[in-house]
Formats: sequence, C-alpha cells, structure tokens
Amino acid sequence: MAISSETIRKPSKPMVNGFDPASVGNLPDDVQKSIRRRDKSLGPGYRLFYNEPVEVVRAKGVTLFDRDGNDYLDVYNNVPCVGHAHPRVIAAVHEQMQTLNTNTRYIQESILDYSEQLLSTFPSQLGHVMYTCTGSEANDLAMRVAKYATGHQGIIVTSGAYHGLTAEVASFSPSLGVGVPLGANVRVIDAPDALRFSSDNETLDEHLRTQVRGAIADLHRHGIGLAAFIADSIFSSDGIFAEPTGFLRPIIEEVHAAGGLYIADEVQPGFGRTGAEWWGFQRHGIVPDIVTMGKPMGNGIPIAAAVFRPELLEQFGKNIRYFNTFGGNSVAIAAAQAVLDVLREESLMENSLKVGGKILTELKQLTQDLEQVAEVRGSGLFVGVDLVTDRATLTPDGDTASAIVNRLRQERILISASGAQGNVLKLRPPMPFSMSDADRLIEALDRAFKVMH
Ligand code: PMP
Repeated sequence: MAISSETIRKPSKPMVNGFDPASVGNLPDDVQKSIRRRDKSLGPGYRLFYNEPVEVVRAKGVTLFDRDGNDYLDVYNNVPCVGHAHPRVIAAVHEQMQTLNTNTRYIQESILDYSEQLLSTFPSQLGHVMYTCTGSEANDLAMRVAKYATGHQGIIVTSGAYHGLTAEVASFSPSLGVGVPLGANVRVIDAPDALRFSSDNETLDEHLRTQVRGAIADLHRHGIGLAAFIADSIFSSDGIFAEPTGFLRPIIEEVHAAGGLYIADEVQPGFGRTGAEWWGFQRHGIVPDIVTMGKPMGNGIPIAAAVFRPELLEQFGKNIRYFNTFGGNSVAIAAAQAVLDVLREESLMENSLKVGGKILTELKQLTQDLEQVAEVRGSGLFVGVDLVTDRATLTPDGDTASAIVNRLRQERILISASGAQGNVLKLRPPMPFSMSDADRLIEALDRAFKVMH
C-alpha cells in the first residue's frame, strides 16, 4: 500500500530541544538582551539550540568557547569536519583570497586537481562533478537532472527526510512538517527503522521493497512516473539508521526497474564520517546514479556538489547552461582541497572508525540494562541513542532526550537529538574527536542516564 502524504504529515513542532522564546525571561540579562536584539533584526524564522542558548565567540579543534573563556566540547558540528579553525584550511583560504577568487568560466587548474581527486573517492561509474554553495542547491540540481534525464516528475523519500530549503527541495522534505506541504509528485515510504519493524511475513528488506513498489505504482496510477528516490545514506533526520547494511539494495533495484534514479544524499554521512568508507552508500554495497554532498566539504566555507553518472548529463549539459556564481569559486575549492588533504594526512576516517567504535561499544555496555535506552546505533562518528518510555512498547521518548541534551549543555557538552519524535540523541562531533574527548562525553552521558526517571 502506498502511503499518501496526508496520512504521514505531522503537526509542525518547535525545533527538537530548541530554545522556547516564551522562556526568555528566565535567562540572565545579557543573554535576554542578545536574544531580543536577534529577534528584532533577524525576525521570527530563526531558532536557537538549548533551553539556555549558548553564545560562542571562538572555536578550535573540537572546542567552542564563550565570552568568559568557558570551553564547550563540540559533539554536534559536522561542518568543521577537520576541526574548528584548522590552520591548513585557514592558510589555504587566506592565500587563495590574496591570489585569485573567481568563477568556473575561466580555466583554473585547482578545480581540475580537486575534481579529479574527489571523483577518485567514488565508484568508477560516477564521473562528473558540478559545484554549488549549499546542500540544498546540490539536491535541487540533482533532482532537476533526474527529472530531465527520466522525463518523469515523481519523487520518493522517507517519512522523516530533510533534503534542504529551496521550494523544490522543501517539497520533498517531510521533516519540515505541515507548514511545508509535500508536492503532489512526492510519495513517502517508512524510514528503515529496524528496531521498531516487526512482521510475521516479511523482512525489513522485503518491507522496504514492498513500500517502494507501492509508491512507484501509485505514481504511475496518477500518470506521474518516477524520476528519483532520494535518501540520506545514514537517515540522520529520520533517527540515524545505519544497520543492517544492505537494506538500500532492494530499494535501488526497484527504482531502477521502474526507470528511476537513485540519489544518495551524503550531506550528513559523507567525507569519511562513517569510518570505513568515504561515502555512506558504500556501506550498503550500492552505486547510486547521483550523489550530493555539502556541509563538511569546505570545513565551513560554503561549497557543495553533486556527482553524476556522466550519461545523465549528456543531454542536460548540452541543452541547459549551468552557472553558479559562487559555486566552486577559487577560494571554495582551496578550502575543499585543504579538507581533503587533512582528512587523508591526519587519518581522520580511521579516527572516526576508532573513536566512534569506542563510543558505540561503551554506550552499548553502559545502557544494556536501561529500560529507557532501546538502542545505541550508528557508524563511525555518527552515533544515535534511541530513547523510549520502555523497551516493551518502544514508544519514542523525546522529552527525556531533550532533558539529556539540555543537561549535557549545562556540563558544557554540546549534543542534539533527531528522529520524528526527537527521541534519538545525535552524537556527531568534528572528526579529530579524541579518545579522551570520548571519555568526557561517555562519563557525562553515564551521569545523565543515572538520573533518568
Ligand atoms: N541534505 C541533508 C541530509 C541535510 O542534513 C541538509 C542540511 N541539514 C541538507 C541536505 C541541506 O544542506 P544545506 O543546509 O547546506 O542547504
């Protein structure tokens, strides 16, 4: 059965563990003042993390600092993937800014060197890269190409997906809630939640296959046809689903059988965060048709990209001019090159595997008898802790997750939570996170778990 978008939409909620503007009066005077200034100039669309928002003035490595010099352990930010203020990235950006900063309509060797190196991290079927400034734009471009190449409009996503903020991409991002209606061409399938999936007559793989088939049939019934299935390869906003590896295979088979394309959104898991591989989709043994990436790509300098099977761009490239004023400019490429170099030279993928593995193993041990922790899961430095009211019903417990996130904030350890009910603690630090950083995090979580009611 295909799930219609109406049945799946949930009312828009305040941001998970976010600051509630109604409680501004409880904060210290100086913080209140900053928040009021912020509201006045930035308006009501922005959100702040934590019940007591954090003001930061500088950062280094895996540490953020406030105005008084207090340190905060960063267990959340994946954008500074090689660490905040990495000297190699700073030097590369500084030098490039002094030398040349222009666009892709001139021949520049640096973008060629970088593109060749980036493409060498992908399976050989993926051979062209196009640059954008944000992950949203990369997904927008990917979907444009998918629609053009297939001649169809239909899109399939998972129920808690987030793919970005343009009108097009928001129309296939169900996690934005009812305020952002899904497109009439969008169909939604269940997230691959192996913990909560139970059936007497099908496996999770079979269930996903059935769901995708149903969605495709429904698109055909409505005369829409399938352009693409798109998924974040680690299902970050759905609640972090990394295992069992291979569950993406039946999906890609069905999508291809229907003439559609598979778009792997690597904005979250990409660039080695998951440990053993450069890209999250590789853990599932599949080769997508298009891969999008962003966030960590320039360690904070805006650069994102979409990588394609070359045949998909043949007609699109011929008939449609692509120019992105800032996308892939000289400074952005310099930052991205430095990131790639540092990831390799400092063995940060290996570090992700090692330190992430320690966090995963120790948190599993620590929580094995806790009724309110249903599962600790993830890959590399991308770990989720699924909190429930009890293990028998597996009812998601977003309130406890929020309490833990805010408790850790008081200990100056910055984490967040994800999942449809905000019940999955999300641990996703910069990649130079050390064993002793992991100890500090695990000890704080241990204290927090002990006081859970
Ligand atoms: N895809 C995923 C999976 C994301 O998490 C995000 C950002 N949170 C985006 C796309 C959009 O990226 P950006 O914010 O750079 O536009």
